[in-house]
Amino acid sequence: MLRIRNLNAYYGKVHALKNVSLHLNRGEIVTLIGANGAGKTTLLNTLSSVIPGADGDIQLDGKPILGLAPDKVVSLGLSQVPEGRQVFNPLTVEENLELGAYLRYRAGGKRNEIAADMERMNLLFPRLKERRRQAAGTLSGGEQQMLAIGRALMARPRLLLLDEPSMGLAPLVVQEIFRVIQQLRAEEGTTILLVEQNARAALKIADRGYVLETGKVVLEGKAAELLENKDVQRAYLGHE
Ligand code: ATP
Repeated sequence: MLRIRNLNAYYGKVHALKNVSLHLNRGEIVTLIGANGAGKTTLLNTLSSVIPGADGDIQLDGKPILGLAPDKVVSLGLSQVPEGRQVFNPLTVEENLELGAYLRYRAGGKRNEIAADMERMNLLFPRLKERRRQAAGTLSGGEQQMLAIGRALMARPRLLLLDEPSMGLAPLVVQEIFRVIQQLRAEEGTTILLVEQNARAALKIADRGYVLETGKVVLEGKAAELLENKDVQRAYLGHE
């Protein structure tokens, strides 16, 4: 579904991604782990085309997407849930979700289909349903994260990129977010690329994983194997 070959990204003279190659098969959950500054966010932002000047090859379902406008990439089925959630604070929950469907409205999408998807968000996130007229800025961190995921889903992505969805959240809320990620794959077959500091939890729900260090992929494998890997345990898993 997604194939990245020899991807390089730069911030001025900083070479932030160095010949990164990776792939995601349809319906997979793949996690990207790595220390602060390894380049995880840069990789997601390059996929979403919000960082200019990258080189290499990125194909989504066989179509090259590197260098396309960000809205075009979303239209082709790739949506990102950004680090730090970035919901629109003054707008209500409902308005934030509606904005996620903006490109569908613009393309003349069927209003009843969009309305059905709004209903689907109510089922997926019952806590948001209760708060649909509340300003997003007044939600808890966990609720904002769910809203950010819901907003991305309103674009009907086939590939969802999640940037540190568990950041700063209490353990029970993290469990809820990870449950939703699994549910999305199980019920809708959504392919998911999950960036996480919480490597253990991410590897537990992922099929495969990649380890990124200073802009390079240094290790890849089945999630179960990475969980058992001594280097991964030492660097990223800490102690149980
Ligand atoms: P974190 O978990 O801390 O978000 P990360 O793995 O997502 O880390 P990136 O944010 O992708 O890492 O950063 C990769 C490298 O690029 C780092 O060395 C960082 O300092 C650098 N970098 C990121 N954004 C910029 C920017 N806007 N300008 C210059 N350098 C940047």
